This record gives sequence, C-alpha cells and structure tokens, in this order.
Amino acid sequence: MSIFRSRLRALTRPPAPRRWVYVPYDQLGVFGLLATPPESLGIVMVETPEKAARRPYHAQKLAFVLASGRHFALEMALRGVAVDHRVAPAPREGEGSPLVATLRAAARDHGPLEVMRPAERELREELAPLFADGTLCERPHAGWLTTREDFAAACPRAPFRMDAFYRHARLRRGVLLEADGTPTGGRWSFDAENRRTWRPDLAHPPAPIPPCYAVDDVTEEVGALIRARYAAHPGTLDLSALPVTAAQAEAHWGWALDQALPWFGPFEDAMHSASSGLFHTRIAHLLNVHRVLPARVLADALGREAIPLASREGFVRQVLGWREFVHHVHEATDGFRTTPGYAGAQRGDPLPPAYWGAPSGLSCLDHVVAQVLREGWTHHIPRLMVLANIGTLLGVSPRALTDWFWAAFVDAYDWVVEPNVLAMGTFGVGEVMTTKPYIAGSAYIHRMSDHCKGCAFQPGRTCPITPMYWAWLQEHADALARNPRVAGPVAAARKRGDGDARIARRVRSLLAAGQRVTPEALIGEGGG
Ligand SMILES: Cc1cc2nc3c(=O)[nH]c(=O)nc-3n(C[C@H](O)[C@H](O)[C@H](O)COP(=O)(O)OP(=O)(O)OC[C@H]3O[C@@H](n4cnc5c(N)ncnc54)[C@H](O)[C@@H]3O)c2cc1C
Ligand code: SF4
Repeated sequence: MSIFRSRLRALTRPPAPRRWVYVPYDQLGVFGLLATPPESLGIVMVETPEKAARRPYHAQKLAFVLASGRHFALEMALRGVAVDHRVAPAPREGEGSPLVATLRAAARDHGPLEVMRPAERELREELAPLFADGTLCERPHAGWLTTREDFAAACPRAPFRMDAFYRHARLRRGVLLEADGTPTGGRWSFDAENRRTWRPDLAHPPAPIPPCYAVDDVTEEVGALIRARYAAHPGTLDLSALPVTAAQAEAHWGWALDQALPWFGPFEDAMHSASSGLFHTRIAHLLNVHRVLPARVLADALGREAIPLASREGFVRQVLGWREFVHHVHEATDGFRTTPGYAGAQRGDPLPPAYWGAPSGLSCLDHVVAQVLREGWTHHIPRLMVLANIGTLLGVSPRALTDWFWAAFVDAYDWVVEPNVLAMGTFGVGEVMTTKPYIAGSAYIHRMSDHCKGCAFQPGRTCPITPMYWAWLQEHADALARNPRVAGPVAAARKRGDGDARIARRVRSLLAAGQRVTPEALIGEGGG
C-alpha cells in the first residue's frame, strides 16, 4: 500500500452521519461547504488518471495538483473529517466518464453528494449527468470575491470592460475607498506609474528569490508516480519548488507578502533574465486551487499599509479586478462559445515546435519558453507580450495557443486561461473583453527586458518582430478599421509596402518547419 494510503487509513473516521461533499481538484481549502464542522463532514476526493493524461500537462502541474490534493486529504482527516479518497479506473470503450462512475459509486455508499459549483467548464460538463439525476447537488462556490449580480450590474452586456467591473467591486466591498466614496490616492488605478524597467545594475531593489520547500514522503511518492506514469509529459519536475502542504502554502504567501508585494507595482511590467519572476507573487496556482483563499490575500495585502499604495492597488486590481472579471466573462459567455467569432478562433496555423522548446532564434521567445518548460510559470508580461504576442503575429490559431497555455502552465484552468489567451492575448474573439489587440513590435520587448542583448537580431533594425507587427495590422486592417484605439497604427501599416508580409511569411515557414530564424535567412525579404 502506498505511503499516502496507509497514512490516510490510519486517520480513518467513522463515516456516518455526516454531510458528504465532493471536493474537485481545485477546491482544496477550508471554505464554504468545506468549513462544515469536521465531526459532521465527509469528503469524497477522486484522482482521475485519464484527466491527467487528457492534455500534455507540464510535470509540475500534475505534481502540484496531485500532491496538494493528497496533502489536503490528510490535513482534513487530521481535523476529524471523514475522507473517502478514490482513484478512478482507466476509461473503457463505451463506459463513459471514469470520474462519473466513481462518484456514482461513492454516492451509493454515502447518499447524494454536494459540491460547490466547479470553476472549470470542462468539469461541469463532465458532471452534468450527475447534476441531472440528483447524485450531485450544486451549491454556490464560496471562494469568489464577487457575485454574478456584481458582474451584471457593472457589465450588463458585451463588450465587458474590466475597469467598470473593478470600480464596482471596490465600491461594493469598500476597498481602498475614502469616507466620501472616492478612491484612496485620488485614482482608481496607478497602472500608469507601474511601468518601470528593472536593472540589477541601477540600484533597483534586489529581486526576491522564491522559496524552496522540503519534500516529504507523500510528495516524493507523487513525484515517483509522475516519473513512472507520465514520463512523456513535458517540463522539468522540481518538487522542491512546489508549496503543496497547508504550511508550505502559508509560508509561500508570507514570502510574497513580505518580499514581493512592496515592489510589486512599479516593476509589474518588467522582465529580466536575472530573475524570472521579479516582484510577482507566484501565488496564482495556490489561489486557483484554494490552498490560499482570495479573500485572505486581499485582506492581508490591504492590511499592510506600509506597502506603497501603487503596489497595494496594483495587486488588488489583479485579484479583485482581473481574476474575478475573467471568471465572470467566462461564465457569461460559456467560455466564449456564445461569442460571435468563437469559430474563427479555431482557425490559424498550428503551434510551431518553438513553443515546446525547439530553438527559434528569437532570443525573447526562446528565453521565455525555456522558463515555462523549467518552471511551468512565467509572469504576466512574458505571457502577454512575448508568448501570446509572437504567437498572434505568427498567425497561430488562438485555440491552439490557448491549449498550449492550458497544458504548459501550473496555474492554468479553462475559466482563466481561455479569457486570458483567446480574448486578451490573441484578440481571437475580438473586443468582447479588451478594447484592442495586445500586439507589439520589438521596441516594447527591448524597453521592458534585457532579452535583446543576447539575440542575433537587433531590435528596431533587423528584428523580424516589428515587420511581423506591421504585417499583422495590414492583414487585419479591414476588421480593425473602426477601432479608434488602433486607427493610427492601422493607417500607418496601410502605407507600408509588402516587405513586412514577406518577412512574416518567411518567419512563419521557418518556425513551422522547426527551423531557427537567422538574420541570414531573412536577407532579401525587405520590410524595415
Ligand atoms: C496569455 C495569458 C495567459 C494567462 N494564463 C493564466 C492562467 O492560466 N492562470 C492564471 O491564473 N492566470 C493566467 N494569466 C494571468 C496572469 O498572467 C497570471 O495570473 C499571473 O502571471 C500569475 O503569476 P503571479 O501569481 O505571480 O501573479 P501576480 O502578478 O503576482 O498577480 C497576483 C494575482 O492576480 C491574479 N491575476 C492577475 N492577472 C490576472 C488575469 N489576467 N487573470 C486572472 N488572474 C489574474 C492571479 O491570481 C495572480 O496570482 C494569464 C495571462 C496572460 C496574458
Ligand atoms: S531583437 Fe527581436 S527577436 Fe531578438 S530578443 Fe529582441 S525582440 Fe526578441
């Protein structure tokens, strides 16, 4: 018997009479239904090997989810909760979802189960037969900071705008407000100030080093399982980088609060090869599985009045603003399936091998991809302005790029990755939640990072990303014609010749073939 199972068995509690709750992989906290007094609570947890194999999930993501789930089971058992932890069988032809079959069996033992509304659409779809026949009863998810009604009040219909939602959420919760209802500091957002570059040689504050965690035998066993069963999955497995026990999650948040948050705001958009995360908190994977609760991080950050307002407001905007907003947009649009243009987001080129580590010759892309394969994580700006930007300029299908993000990132779940990639990163579903495409040429990457230093290309001169930017605007000029936020660049793009498009085509074909782009390979293509 495995170490985990024998430890759980030693903590076995009498099964009845209790309220039995199914705990999906991303509800691993004592909140909502799970805050029921331990002596009257029973939980059902299911590991589903078929789900783990459904996409080429990064080894760190598999390890994080599995080890966090097992530690949560042990922690709940230790509190006095009855824990029924099962492993779903392998799928068999014609037999339907192994998860559904396992939950039916659990309900036969315990009676109908309750569950907080799953955040992932994919899971809700899978569980639909159980909701329909009453095996599973859905209850509200108590982890969100805002309600559907909040969203509807601020954003009654598409296009949805984050600013309106964020202002509404702050007003409703009384966050960073003066007595007269005006925003603390006189502004709702300090974003304009939070755009500094970071250089270690400029007496900028040193970037904090993310903590490492002791790997206990339960976590080690998960590591062995992943090495044996999911050896073909991409990414480096580093168990010591994963906060998987409640104590480790707590320590991680303490680190973020003390070390990262004070400088979070000013350097929020900076990238540097000396520090992959700079002052970002690296808390998304913990928040998304509720090992640390959003309400908790919000309260702690607000309570640290010594942290400069630009940093506190910047962080609040991410957690109370963006995180909640994308969740509501995903729910309101059924993951964009009801958005006109969703079908178009399936079209485009396949993802080039560079996103799985084949050298592209574009130093910024190679640098960020290497980090993602190493850590299963990178911060917001490399995601948006390198990975999604270059993918978009290459004409990659927004859906294919979204699926890559979903597999490659330790914090990715459909409700968060689809809005961020399909809608924001690629503009794949148009203006439903952003006013313009987030695309840029080499000037942005050069200004905000040091990646261009080691590149064979020169930003603004030989770098192909700027011509690709113009080519993209030319290609989409008609669709963007009525968008005032890009009218200027579109007009400028129309005046350029066809050299940009030639460069873009050449870069696409080289990367599609898994080849490196070199300055020599682009000679004679024109552009500039
Ligand atoms: C193309 C693209 C893909 C993304 N994919 C994901 C994803 O799969 N999962 C995910 O959690 N976030 C995703 N994000 C949002 C954001 O980049 C990450 O939440 C953040 O980088 C995680 O690092 P952190 O915890 O250090 O965040 P910090 O920068 O420290 O921010 C604090 C928290 O704010 C929340 N947050 C900030 N921005 C967003 C946002 N746009 N959407 C949702 N939450 C946000 C996160 O919970 C984050 O932990 C994506 C963004 C882009 C542009
Ligand atoms: S020169 Fe261009 S390709 Fe190279 S790192 Fe800079 S932006 Fe990226």
